[in-house]
Formats: sequence, structure tokens, C-alpha cells
Amino acid sequence: MTTTRIGGLIKHVFFPQNLDQLAINLLTIFKLDYKFYIIGGGSNTIFGETFDERSCLINLSQFNTIKNTCFESIEADTGAILQDIVDICLIRKLTKFDKLNRIPGSIGGAVYGNAGAYGVEISELINQVTVINLDKFFRLCELQKKSPLFNLQAIIYNSLETYNQNECEFGYRTSLFKTSKHKFLIVKISLKSHKAVNKNKIIELQNSYLHIAKLRDFNYPKNLKSPGSTFKNIEVSNLSQASRSLINPEWIYNNRLPVAKLLNDCPSIKTSINGIQMKYGHCNILTNNLHGGKSNAAGTSQDVEKYLSAIKSYVAKTYKIQLDEEIRIVNEFETISSILQSK
Ligand SMILES: Cc1cc2nc3c(=O)[nH]c(=O)nc-3n(C[C@H](O)[C@H](O)[C@H](O)COP(=O)(O)OP(=O)(O)OC[C@H]3O[C@@H](n4cnc5c(N)ncnc54)[C@H](O)[C@@H]3O)c2cc1C
Repeated sequence: MTTTRIGGLIKHVFFPQNLDQLAINLLTIFKLDYKFYIIGGGSNTIFGETFDERSCLINLSQFNTIKNTCFESIEADTGAILQDIVDICLIRKLTKFDKLNRIPGSIGGAVYGNAGAYGVEISELINQVTVINLDKFFRLCELQKKSPLFNLQAIIYNSLETYNQNECEFGYRTSLFKTSKHKFLIVKISLKSHKAVNKNKIIELQNSYLHIAKLRDFNYPKNLKSPGSTFKNIEVSNLSQASRSLINPEWIYNNRLPVAKLLNDCPSIKTSINGIQMKYGHCNILTNNLHGGKSNAAGTSQDVEKYLSAIKSYVAKTYKIQLDEEIRIVNEFETISSILQSK
């Protein structure tokens, strides 16, 4: 269920195809007091090895309708594949989407982590994001216990919220939805962009799409088991004077310090733990290189944590910089009570 193929077996997985089915799944989770986790394309997530009987996944990959609204805007359900949207936008000659070509995963996952590449972030293309406020949803489920007249449609209606682009608190690989720790379940995204009008701009757009496809298909071959970039690049303005004096100023690009520059001489990069290691030639792309099975031990989330911890210690010691993971390592699922207590 994830691109890294790490993680144990889980007994319960919901595959909602629309809002009503999703709401029924959430109500079931509430009634059975299950722990849960939301997943889109699984391209940024690594799961732990064991889940108890009361853990469940909400896999949103089938909640994926893309509506062709008008020429400069697109409306997509959360599980729609980002690549499908990028391809539609190329046909419509909409600018900026070309830079997101070949980023795997769902549009919901992309919004959650404000995915981006080649100087463009998905946040720049957002018009509105519609979410289920799970705090409200589960509180209304509590009320329903006392007053069964309060039906599921009313619960959905009263827990849906819409956020405009400037209310989503987007930042570098972050958003309101990420910082609120699953209080919000993204259900629908409305995207907008400008149409390339003159012939040169259209050719530029098509060439950029093809160029990025070629580069990324080479860097990320189809059989690569990876969650993509492991650590976030570093905002130079957040660095201490001590760290600045330890880094090569030539490494800085657009006020960001690419993490890979700090890892070139890290001894752990040249080692592997049960097949977990950085991709050859790219120090910040984690890969899972073994296949598992009885004779061939495969890496686990603990191996990933151990591997990354050694890298983080090296960077902290050498450059006095604390690295922050871009990937999600999930050992604990959300509980209804943790959602209700979050503010
Ligand atoms: C080969 C490769 C290359 C990559 N290149 C890039 C790149 O260039 N730029 C980049 O930014 N990223 C990149 N990534 C990382 C990843 O593809 C993106 O972060 C992607 O947007 C994640 O989407 P997903 O649907 O797979 O997320 P998932 O892994 O399914 O989920 C990620 C997080 O989002 C949450 N989430 C997902 N959907 C919802 C929802 N509907 N509501 C609330 N929370 C939700 C999940 O709970 C989880 O915490 C790459 C990954 C790979 C494997």
C-alpha cells in the first residue's frame, strides 16, 4: 500500500469511493472506537510492523473523481492521482503544473504536504480545499448517540469546511492540514492556473513537461521502492551563525540548503541496514532494496529509524543542524480521543 513496501499486515482497510461512503466508514470507526490512519497514494509514508485488531486504514485512492469544470480550473476528489491532473493540465495548456510532473501520489497527499518541485509548490495552484473537520464530525457522532434523529447527512453537512488558499497556512512542505495532525480530512480540492496563450509559451510548457519526465524517469525508475526525499531541505534564514560558519556558501540555492550537500561525506550513507539505504548517487533519497521473504530479510520501519538517526547525529555533530524528516514514519494511529483533544 506504500511505495516503499515496508510495514506489517493490517486487518481492516476502508476504500471509500465518495463522500457518503467515507462518512459511513468514519461513523463505523467512531462506533467501534477504532484507531485509524488516512492514506492517499502512500508515496510519502512508511508503516510500522504491527497493528492491533482495532487499527484500520482509510485508503482514499478510489475516492478519485476529477471534474472538468472550466478551462482554467479543475475540481478533484482527494484520491485523484496528481499525475492525471498534471496530464489534463498539459492538454489544457495550463501553466505551472508541468513542474509537478511525475510526483507520485494523490492530490490530497500533495496538498497535505504542499508537494513541489522545480520551484513550484501545489499551494500556488490551490483555489479552495474542502475538508471534513474530524473534531466536529466525531462530536456530532457523540450527539447522535443521544439523539438518533441527527442523521449522517446532517453530520456530514455540519462538519464540512472550505478553506481558501490563504487560509491553508501553506509553507515549505507543510500546511494547516499537516500541522493539525489529522484533525482535517481533505475531501475535495479546487485548482486554478493560467492558460499559456502564445505559441512560444505553449511550446515552452510542452518541452518543460517532457524534460522533467525524462529526468525523473531516469532518477526514479519504476521498480524503485522509495518514499522520495527523506529530509526537508533547510531554510537558510533559520540557521544559527555557528551552522552558517560550518557550511560552504556555494551550497546555498534560493535561500535553501539542499540536505544532500550535508550528507555527501556522512559515513552512514555508504552503509545499509537490511537493505535500507540512500539511493546510489543521491544522498537524500531513501530506498528499500531487499525483497523480503524467509531467506531475504527486508527492512522495517525500525531499520529506517535507526538508519536515519545515525545520519541525523552526524549532521547535528558536524554542522550543528537538526534535520527534519519529510517522509512520514507511522507507528501510532490516530484515536478518536486524540482528535477530540486536539485544538
Ligand atoms: C519517487 C518519488 C519522488 C517524489 N518526488 C517528490 C517531489 O519532487 N516533491 C515532493 O513534494 N514530494 C515528492 N515525493 C513525495 C510524495 O510523492 C509526495 O509527498 C506526495 O504528494 C504524497 O502524496 P500521497 O498521496 O502518496 O501521500 P501519502 O503518503 O498517502 O500520505 C502522506 C500524508 O498525507 C496524509 N494525507 C493523505 N491524504 C490525506 C487526506 N485526504 N486528508 C488528510 N491527510 C491526508 C497522510 O495521512 C500522510 O500523513 C516523491 C515520492 C517518491 C516515492
